[in-house]
Amino acid sequence: MTYQIDALTGKQNTFQQMRERSVKCALWLRKQNVKPGDIIVTCTHNQLESYVPFVASMYIDVCINPWNEHSSSGSIEHFFKIVKPKVIFVNGNKAATILEVATKLGVSPKIVVFDETEGFESLESILNGHFDEAEVDGFSCTTLKKNNIRETTVVLFSSGTTGLPKAIEIPHTLFTSLSRMEVPPMSPSDVGLWFGSLSWITSVLLTIHTILSYATAIKCSGFDCEKVYQMIGKYKVTWMLIETGMCNRLVKSGVLTRYNISSLKIIIYGGSVNKAELHENLVKSLPDVLIMPIYGMTETGSISYSTSTGKFGSSGRICKNNRLMIADLNTGKPLGPNMHGEICTKSLTMMNGYYRDPENTKNIFDKDGWFHTGDLGYYDEDGYIFIVDRIKQLIKCKGHQVSPTEIEILLQSHPSVYESAVVPVPHLFDGQHPTAFVQKMSGAEVTAEELEQLVAMNMEDYKKLRGGVVFLENIPHVPNGKIDRKQLRNMAEIFKKK
Ligand code: ATP
Ligand code: MG
Repeated sequence: MTYQIDALTGKQNTFQQMRERSVKCALWLRKQNVKPGDIIVTCTHNQLESYVPFVASMYIDVCINPWNEHSSSGSIEHFFKIVKPKVIFVNGNKAATILEVATKLGVSPKIVVFDETEGFESLESILNGHFDEAEVDGFSCTTLKKNNIRETTVVLFSSGTTGLPKAIEIPHTLFTSLSRMEVPPMSPSDVGLWFGSLSWITSVLLTIHTILSYATAIKCSGFDCEKVYQMIGKYKVTWMLIETGMCNRLVKSGVLTRYNISSLKIIIYGGSVNKAELHENLVKSLPDVLIMPIYGMTETGSISYSTSTGKFGSSGRICKNNRLMIADLNTGKPLGPNMHGEICTKSLTMMNGYYRDPENTKNIFDKDGWFHTGDLGYYDEDGYIFIVDRIKQLIKCKGHQVSPTEIEILLQSHPSVYESAVVPVPHLFDGQHPTAFVQKMSGAEVTAEELEQLVAMNMEDYKKLRGGVVFLENIPHVPNGKIDRKQLRNMAEIFKKK
């Protein structure tokens, strides 16, 4: 039975192969003296082999910490300062960088490559080594025998959208995130497609979900609208999970309505604000598909979800076994419906804490145990949750708070705008000014003045794009698909000086 297919090469493997290869990897890890409590790392894109150490770690109760292959050496240095892995599984093209950074910091993990790379041991040679067949056949998972479902299984770095990525201890309970939403059960005839590597929480969830349901997983990295269509048609994809910005690009490019994607049953998307226009477009153009915007964090798992019949632009209602409180930004007191404040939550799937960082762990919870998300939002009288923006991302102009997302939604309603991102640029008298970075639709024309006018005509004076409009060939994204706002903030200052 097919477990997963590499969308680009067509390479496949079965559940039987997955079990055998993962068990062998687990046995090999034990021989390397990797024990419960230790940590191992994978550094990959969304590729077939990455599940081998991932499942192996679960077999022997070792923590796994997946990194994204596109992480810069600066990020890798940051990761090594926090985690000291015993073994790292990596693609050959990154092995030398990892070794260099590890050596510089005095960390000495064993490095295993997924392909054949001179100077490094390969996963294939390990799996092709000698194993006692009876031991492989009779191997059973120690993790599943555990009673402590809150034990840390995976350590994930947050996306690093607002600063340096934070290492987060994920308990087993987090794997129930998808089943706490009204998703139809996945069955062996289902085919899931996603793009993020295991370093993204949602990819971990879908990996576990497909394994437990005996469903097929299509692995693809590098997001491209045409490719998405081809893969849905070719592999009869039924489930697709993507980042909100990618979903927006799919809709803007017209791909979803141009092609026959009749196998698709459900699109789950999240990671950034669910724009009403996007939600409505998806529901109208794909009436037979369950459209599910979700809201969540690496630290918390999914917090809320919506459906095709939910209110457009809302991130839906809270998941089962979750609680939500909107805290006044100044007093921290709970607010009622339609009042903007910080979204706070308590849930079964809550992280165990920031990895080896008791101080930050303590600070993120208030005295009543509420986790503070750092997101600004509200709920309406029907219990629908609306996320306005990240509090840290709000632009302070002339004493007012400006939500970049609100301006982006307006800019994206312009037919010539493919994607946009608004960031602050410092200003001596006004505090900060909003600057818009814009990627045009291919072949479309629009001027900076037109877009500045659009905002000036439709929004309050302090929201005007006083920092200007900068056109880019491509809006930069962090590896999981979110807009790279740190890079854009730096670019805004450079453009201002010019
Ligand atoms: P970092 O914490 O390192 O800055 P990050 O917060 O982007 O990065 P994640 O845990 O991947 O890392 O993302 C969680 C955040 O993503 C949420 O706090 C929220 O700001 C945003 N987000 C996720 N889903 C939604 C949604 N449906 N609507 C609005 N924002 C969302
Ligand atoms: Mg965060």
